[in-house]
Amino acid sequence: MKIGVFALQGAFIEHERALAKLGVETAEIRRRAHFTDGLDGVILPGGESTVQGKLMREEGLFEPVKQAIEGGLPVFGTCAGLILLANELTNDKNVYFAALDVSVKRNAYGRQLGSFRTALPVKGVGEVEAVFIRAPYIERTGKGVEVLATYAEKIVAVRRGRILATAFHPELTDDLRLHEYFIGMAKQR
Ligand code: GLN
Repeated sequence: MKIGVFALQGAFIEHERALAKLGVETAEIRRRAHFTDGLDGVILPGGESTVQGKLMREEGLFEPVKQAIEGGLPVFGTCAGLILLANELTNDKNVYFAALDVSVKRNAYGRQLGSFRTALPVKGVGEVEAVFIRAPYIERTGKGVEVLATYAEKIVAVRRGRILATAFHPELTDDLRLHEYFIGMAKQR
């Protein structure tokens, strides 16, 4: 089992640490040559989606990654990663991988509630501590998208097939269960 972690920008080291604690091998993906066939899944970390999307295009990573996700490569997107996966952004003209039929609002909690922590029950996982940082939320889900968690009536975690996405950052806590859940998805492949 080997999981690729996109390491262009943002909170990728924390994902690598979480996977290491689970005994899972990781590979940092910064350039086209790092995105190889031997990966059992990939993680799109939090950070700044605009910057990440731009860097992926500049590195020639964007198209191969999009195709691999469409081909069934398991992917876990956190925060900015969710934004990159979404079919539509309601307050931004950009669209990236368009791999997940959800409409996402960026920076959705406004300035005052920009960053916060809360206990959050996640379907199939249990109650986790969720860290939100200038987080998006999901305003609409399409057919086949399973809602795994809501916070204040907004959808903040979803799954469709081999795609898992959260508006929050599970890698910033000591709780490894969401990573474990994703590894379970990658193993089913
Ligand atoms: N606000 C960021 C964006 O829109 C996402 C924040 C995060 O990943 N913590 O890309």
